[in-house]
Amino acid sequence: HNDDAVILSVDGLEKRFGGLVAVKDLSFDVHRGTIHALIGPNGAGKSTTFDMISGLQSPTSGTVQFNGTVVTHTPARNMIARGMARTFQHVRIRPQMTLLDNVMQGAHWRLTSGFWAGILRLDRAEEAAYRKTALLALKAVGLADQALVEAGTLSLGQQRQLEIARALAADPEILLLDEPAAGLRTGEKAELAALLSRLREAGMTILLVEHDMDFVMGLVDRIVVLDFGQHLAEGLPDEIRQNSKVQEAYLGG
Ligand code: ADP
Ligand code: MG
Repeated sequence: HNDDAVILSVDGLEKRFGGLVAVKDLSFDVHRGTIHALIGPNGAGKSTTFDMISGLQSPTSGTVQFNGTVVTHTPARNMIARGMARTFQHVRIRPQMTLLDNVMQGAHWRLTSGFWAGILRLDRAEEAAYRKTALLALKAVGLADQALVEAGTLSLGQQRQLEIARALAADPEILLLDEPAAGLRTGEKAELAALLSRLREAGMTILLVEHDMDFVMGLVDRIVVLDFGQHLAEGLPDEIRQNSKVQEAYLGG
């Protein structure tokens, strides 16, 4: 392996909630320009892992390295400034705001978080630049023609695309998506998969959590399987599909 290609590295990550071990001794690497999936049954520790990587929760032990720097315990706002943007399992948009204003929040985050917060004061030129970035992000996900519509009127599939646009507007190097396909109809899932493929072609790195194995199989480059907080298996989609431990965890549960 060429280590330069590793953008994110998780080593011995652990999270305890009192007596419950939600994530245990988890290690894996994500390579630049790939789509990497973290899959596993409900309660396996996927969202908790995302929270630790993106700075929303501190691990009990273990380290996270991003772009060659140890970022364990770095607050979420600083992770955005460093180039990591994420979405959440439950959609977090402002339904009364327009799509454009929702996405402008993302453009804002990157430049007004961490170090930049104390220095930048927005003037009109900067506001216009944010607007332009937000429009480009909406265009990337196919929602530009609805920029001035209220976000609450969108379908769930479109709301998830909107969240991805908001994350993209922060100009990330890596996107973390927590169950982006959950609750989507078949056609919407296909659209989402096409969008993620386009982003990868454009050089984006994506780490996604998914409960639905079928969604990830045709899309991702590499899969890590979590079960009861532990690393159960890792490999190419075909290897994971044929892995008997994985089949047991999903079907025998
Ligand atoms: P997944 O995303 O794979 O469904 P989670 O990471 O949400 O799993 O949860 C993993 C385990 O940790 C579950 O047993 C869950 O109940 C527990 N858990 C998650 N967050 C907390 C918390 N804040 N306090 C206590 N237990 C939690
Ligand atoms: Mg989850």
